[in-house]
Amino acid sequence: MTRPLVLHPDRLFPADPGTRAIARALYAGVKDLPIVSPHGHTDPSWFACDEPFTDPASLLIVPDHYVFRMLYSQGVALESLGVPSVDGSPVEQDPRKIWNIFAKHYHLFRGTPSRMWLDWVFAEVFGLNVLLDETTADHYYEVIDAALKTDAFRPRALFERFNIEAIATTEGPLDPLAHHRAIRESDWDGRVVTAYRPDPVVDPETPGFAEKVAKFGAMAGEDVSTYAGYLAAHRFHRARFREAGATSTDHGHPSALTADLSNEDCEALYRRVLSSASKQDAELFRAQLLTEMAGMSVEDGMVMQLHPAVHRSHNKAVLDRFGRDKGGDIPMPGEFVQALKPLLDRHGNDPRLTLILFTLDEDVYSRELAPLAGHYPSLRLGPPWWFHDSPEGMRRFRERATETGGFYNTVGFNDDTRAFLSIPARHDVARRMDCAWLAQLVAEHRLPEDEAHEVARALAYDLVKAAYKL
Ligand SMILES: [Zn+2]
Repeated sequence: MTRPLVLHPDRLFPADPGTRAIARALYAGVKDLPIVSPHGHTDPSWFACDEPFTDPASLLIVPDHYVFRMLYSQGVALESLGVPSVDGSPVEQDPRKIWNIFAKHYHLFRGTPSRMWLDWVFAEVFGLNVLLDETTADHYYEVIDAALKTDAFRPRALFERFNIEAIATTEGPLDPLAHHRAIRESDWDGRVVTAYRPDPVVDPETPGFAEKVAKFGAMAGEDVSTYAGYLAAHRFHRARFREAGATSTDHGHPSALTADLSNEDCEALYRRVLSSASKQDAELFRAQLLTEMAGMSVEDGMVMQLHPAVHRSHNKAVLDRFGRDKGGDIPMPGEFVQALKPLLDRHGNDPRLTLILFTLDEDVYSRELAPLAGHYPSLRLGPPWWFHDSPEGMRRFRERATETGGFYNTVGFNDDTRAFLSIPARHDVARRMDCAWLAQLVAEHRLPEDEAHEVARALAYDLVKAAYKL
């Protein structure tokens, strides 16, 4: 029996009719605002080359670790989903077979944000009106596959249809940024910018760290045998990224630890991590580099983002067979108050610095992050991230952070995704949840309705543009 696919117009709004009416009115004021996506992982080659996406499975399943993580947890082999193996041993190649396995297991996503995003893509992007399951799998495959072969579903056309005003990708420090150059030199005027993510030359525990640093220095024409030359190379690459439109840097560190060492200590530490870094030296070097990056942000105006405390690739067998970013990343506890103090002592009061903090440890929203951002002029709170980019995660964030941090120390929404088609759905969930939260404040007479309209617009559009200088 086929079931209908319906996106209810009141989804995520409060059940109480009075509050729901306020939420509807607030949402009507923000739902059509353009999307500003300041941090994410879309592939710039999509917008540079504008080639059609090849098939439903390689667009929606194979690259999406949110999707195959859940299927893997229920015993579906990653090989059967076409996830490429490290050693090149064979995995499923038939996109229709991959799609059918996904369809058969679609019920596993009930109650998850993935289900909301995917249903939105199916209904709004592809016009499907029946629910995905085993019996509708072929119908879905044919509708999506046929659509992807048309010009209206090429990357640039979708970018325009999604009303994206600006989108940032994320590149490593050795990336030549050729796709960004191609986009800028094309006659297409979509705004796609990069962001500077120097982790591979900042984290001494990166495989091949010394060779990467050598290449980093060679590209910059700097002598990176000294710490001073290494910092000069960062300044070169930051300028190169700014030329490709970057307004931000991003730092994915195991912790938020920062340090502020003397020059002599930095030179000695740098020499040690280039040969063979102990755990302690690696952590101290990353810590020192966060403070250096904050100093360079003061100089060049790039906004700094810190995404700490994830245990990457927790599942060793999956890491060995399929590599990184395969759904095995698990959050760890976060600590910011002691960790950030060296950086804040040096730069925390400088009006030229913006440091946006993210966490996967919700315990620190009210205890650490909201008090820090509610005091230091340089600090802002990033939106709920990754596992908490969900209706309940967004509600908890507003509940725990607003009273101390206010709305204006937050920076709007990040979709932080490479699932391009889901970007409007993710922003829509954030807008609905913020309107639902504001409606509650209005209904309890904690905020006048006209001010709630202003806040709703700030959360959907104004704050992100201001914080990220987009
Ligand atoms: Zn990210």
